[in-house]
Amino acid sequence: MNYRHAYHAGNFADVFKHTLLARILVHLAAKDTPFRYIDTHAGIGLYDLSRDEAKRTNEADAGIRRFLKAPRPQIMEALFQPYIAALKAVNGMEGLHYPGSPMIASCLTRPQDKIALAELHSDDVRALEKRFDHDRRIMVRAMDGWAALKAWTPPPERRGMVLVDPPFESANEFGQMLNGLANAYKKWPTGTFALWYPLKATGEVRRFVGDLVNLGLPKTLRMELVVETQGDSHRLLGSGMIVVNPPWKLKQEADIILPFLARALSDARTGHWKTEWLVGEGKVKKGGDEE
Ligand code: SAM
Repeated sequence: MNYRHAYHAGNFADVFKHTLLARILVHLAAKDTPFRYIDTHAGIGLYDLSRDEAKRTNEADAGIRRFLKAPRPQIMEALFQPYIAALKAVNGMEGLHYPGSPMIASCLTRPQDKIALAELHSDDVRALEKRFDHDRRIMVRAMDGWAALKAWTPPPERRGMVLVDPPFESANEFGQMLNGLANAYKKWPTGTFALWYPLKATGEVRRFVGDLVNLGLPKTLRMELVVETQGDSHRLLGSGMIVVNPPWKLKQEADIILPFLARALSDARTGHWKTEWLVGEGKVKKGGDEE
């Protein structure tokens, strides 16, 4: 396990992932009944962007710092409000801190909701436990995310979501995602499943998407944001999120959010985006330069 999110926190992929995560949570919180948030690869929950790890890569410059500087038209304010509320909740006067997915979830859930976090790196687990030990709604476990996905579905609540956000440092993570989703969905067909994936100059995503279509789960939404068009097979050009059972307005919202992010976060206007129902309702929508 070499991947440490502290080197990447607040990069363009985080802005994309966390904006969509915040939208899903807000829709779940629109009904009074409790829901559960499950994070299979949780990270440490909060990142100080003035620390060495963040400064070593400066990835946040092309992500959250750029996002915060971009003028947002009025229509964007309501859509980004929950994400910005989470950013504000962790930022005082000094420097910039970036909320990871567990922190965003803790900001956007209510007293009746529950949060379950799995993380395998022992230092990160300790940091997570320390960060959330005051919050009785939050359970932190040092465990493998794929085992957590299996063990924690279905939760006692009928409603809720799982974020699956692995580091993609081993060859079989697309396969683990697919199998994990297929098994968990069978047990919890009312849950929302959000799967993040990297877009690189390889054919892996095409195969993954083909396999997802073959799974044939109802209502599978694919959303992607690409900020760079060229790079070797290791370079992150963009990222995507598959959402099974999305809130019904999510695609409509992503059709407004993603064109904005493509313009705000890409150099030389190379950014492009896509939303597409792989299974279920509707059509492909995309914009910017084509792949
Ligand atoms: N979800 C976090 C967020 O959005 O703030 C970022 C997660 S980061 C991309 C992936 C995390 O998975 C890392 O913190 C890494 O230590 C952890 N990890 C790696 N392998 C794991 C495994 N098998 N099970 C659980 N966590 C794992």
